[in-house]
Amino acid sequence: MLRLLCVTAHPDDEAGAFGGTLLLYASRGVETHLVCLTSGQAATHRGDARDDDELAAIRRRELGRSAEILRLTSWECLHYPDGALDRQDFYSVVGELVRRIRTIRPHVVLTIGPEGAVTAHPDHSMVSVFTTMAYQWAARSNRYTDQLDRGLQPHRAQKLYYGASLFTPPSKRTPRRRRWPRYLRRRCASGARANPSTWLRPPAPARSSARPTSSPG
Ligand SMILES: [Zn+2]
Repeated sequence: MLRLLCVTAHPDDEAGAFGGTLLLYASRGVETHLVCLTSGQAATHRGDARDDDELAAIRRRELGRSAEILRLTSWECLHYPDGALDRQDFYSVVGELVRRIRTIRPHVVLTIGPEGAVTAHPDHSMVSVFTTMAYQWAARSNRYTDQLDRGLQPHRAQKLYYGASLFTPPSKRTPRRRRWPRYLRRRCASGARANPSTWLRPPAPARSSARPTSSPG
């Protein structure tokens, strides 16, 4: 039985970024597993939720319904804080994912690209980094040896795929309370002025100041 593990940051990432893939492989008889790191309680669009706890409960219920529609074999929503994955203990979060990779033993791992997908959300970038390291370290017998002592075995998944985006919409702005430091904003602004159509142009031939000494004959 082939197995696929998808790791995301928020409830709805599984549908928005990977829904078609997850449903396709479920329909082909592949086991599909989902680990979502947060319950999305810091979302901008909050429905009727009165506080973060209520929103977290709503989004977990929605994730459960999404899992049914996508016919997931298993799903799990962990309790890391939404909007703060970049401030969590790196080794410990990766360890949580390594444990799940060593337990589920997927052939393929899916996660979001390090650019943060179309929204460039910092949590998306972080889940990418955490999952990439977990994919590597789950295979090594000298990482998280306490898990091996408890009976798990190292596991090397065959492939790691990113659900990535080349661009973010120009109207998408980072909320004010999460603004980046001024020096980073300046660097991003100067990057945005660059013309993407020039990125893949071959380099112009080098100009030589020396004049030809003879004409072709
Ligand atoms: Zn998200």
